[in-house]
Amino acid sequence: IKDSLAVCRELGAKPVFRVFDYPDMSAISDLFQKWIADKNEINQISELVESLTNESISSLNTIIAYVDEISFGVKPVFSSIYKENSESSVVIDSATRRNLELTEARIDGDRRNSLFAKIDFTKTAMGSRLLKQTILNPSTEIEKINFKLDAVEELVNDKQKLENLVKYLVQVRDLDRLCSRISTHRANPKDFKMLLDSIRLLPELSKELGKKAFFTELNSQLDLLPDVFQSLESSLVETPPTKINEAGIFKQGFSQEIDRLNELRQNGRKWLAQLEQEERERTGISSIKVKYNNVFGYFFEIPKGQASKAPDYFERKQTLTNVERFATKELKQRELEILSAKGKQIELEREEFIKLRADIANEVYRIQKTARALAKLDLICSLSRLAIKRNYIRPEILDNNKTLITSGRHPVVEEVIGEHNFIPNDVNLNTEERRLAILTGPNMGGKSTYLRQIGLIQLLAQAGSFVPAENARIGIVDRIFTRIGAADDLSRGDSTFMVEMREASVIVRKATQKSLVLIDEVGRGTATNDGLALASAIANWLLEKIKCRTVFATHFHQLTNDVKPGAFCLAVGVLEKSNEIVFTHRINEEVCNKSFGLEVARLAGLPEELVLNAMTLLDNLESNSSNTCLNKAKDLSSKVLIED
Ligand code: ATP
Repeated sequence: IKDSLAVCRELGAKPVFRVFDYPDMSAISDLFQKWIADKNEINQISELVESLTNESISSLNTIIAYVDEISFGVKPVFSSIYKENSESSVVIDSATRRNLELTEARIDGDRRNSLFAKIDFTKTAMGSRLLKQTILNPSTEIEKINFKLDAVEELVNDKQKLENLVKYLVQVRDLDRLCSRISTHRANPKDFKMLLDSIRLLPELSKELGKKAFFTELNSQLDLLPDVFQSLESSLVETPPTKINEAGIFKQGFSQEIDRLNELRQNGRKWLAQLEQEERERTGISSIKVKYNNVFGYFFEIPKGQASKAPDYFERKQTLTNVERFATKELKQRELEILSAKGKQIELEREEFIKLRADIANEVYRIQKTARALAKLDLICSLSRLAIKRNYIRPEILDNNKTLITSGRHPVVEEVIGEHNFIPNDVNLNTEERRLAILTGPNMGGKSTYLRQIGLIQLLAQAGSFVPAENARIGIVDRIFTRIGAADDLSRGDSTFMVEMREASVIVRKATQKSLVLIDEVGRGTATNDGLALASAIANWLLEKIKCRTVFATHFHQLTNDVKPGAFCLAVGVLEKSNEIVFTHRINEEVCNKSFGLEVARLAGLPEELVLNAMTLLDNLESNSSNTCLNKAKDLSSKVLIED
């Protein structure tokens, strides 16, 4: 679509987006007949389309009408159409994608410290795109996950094989991109050389594949394209030009007529060199030279000092500061022959190239299939290199609702601060007696890091990757939800509190018992009592109604006062030394009933006198206040549950 849009731009045309709100089967089947290269696919696809709901068919109508609109008579290549089962991958909404910083940082959109950037060891553009797609859509199907994990494990244990495969992948070009250039008639001779060089690697690469089922399947999907190889190899020169309007695309022997014109041009050049020599001898002007420019064509050039010696048949054409330029009848006659041979050769090579491109375009669906297989291989190699380089382990994927991680690490923070500076932490969640962890601790203690780490390890495991931990037993989740930190979305007209509540609302409505919910700071963007009440009600809702695996980080340590069955407390470790606090970044099974806000403020550099004033005020507040807030919150939350 991207390439077709580029064609639209070149043509100065605006594509029309026509939305179908009714299913139109005949439009679909007409276009399939027109578009689908592999005729065997048509029947299967038609059957598939018939099994779709009317809404899906209307959507498909809209998509294909759009592609038809932007393709301007160029046949787009659909290699296949498949129905994506929404239950086969983990649902990750946009807030969670942002909060977990999967593809870009939350605050400034920087991609360098995203999960994707830190784990991307792919060697091809196709592999890199597939990796991104995989972490945005981790699988929920145990067999599929283990299928990948088996392949990763095989390569982790056979580093030589891995390096051999990587050596080939480094040389593979972006076949998907080349395919779209070929099918939109934009591929140039150099593109074909890249295609040829990539296909050349396939036979050796396929011999290197591993033994696990993943590789056997991959091998069957990897079309070695011997016919495409043969037709490119027998026609293209070693270094073809980038433009289709240049001579020198085809090898000698490809076409007799091209060879004849080429020889004429080559001979013409030789003849010019000979003429130059003859004229030097004939005129006695040793510095005479034959040159060429686009304005005058071929001419003789003589330095000013010797120009007077030029014979009569030299016709003066131009006088420059240091040289004079001349033409002769003989030279002009030859020029005509050379230039017309060149023009004819270019025209002929262009025609032949267009024919070749059309032939290859018929095979694009096969090249795409190979591109997909290579992308999968690149993905597995990338995950294997990640596992080796970062010391990740294979997670055990379970068909239950438990997440058990020993010494888990955050894949990005660990990289940023250095492996030895990162303090690993354990996780033990299930949907029975450990379904709601209430996590308290000071700012900067490491709560958000811990929450994200759980989400990322769960996600990596379901994406078929090894994970940063000493041991991981991961029960599949259907959705991952996060609400992390306060962030205004002023551009969309939402205040901090509105964003918080919107995200919380999505979670409590959409989470199921098989979901993983990670909440950090809810109820902070409003008055303390309202916030505490809301935080308490949301935590209770997740505990009692949804019953999913939840980690609920909060500064309202009042929530730890009355821990219900199914909930338990975690706290970020803090050491207090005289007036100072030290974060241990260790998550312990304990209650933290102090928020250390003032100590953190001191660390942040607020004037000492101000901090001392705040401490006095805090003492007063704490001694005066009764537990009214908490009582009110408890009342509210039980009311919500009863009413529901
Ligand atoms: P706040 O409540 O202010 O958001 P927080 O408790 O969520 O703070 P984090 O943002 O998770 O704290 O962590 C603060 C910093 O502490 C991180 O930027 C990181 O550098 C460091 N940190 C967090 N966890 C660890 C860890 N396990 N090992 C080492 N350093 C850590």
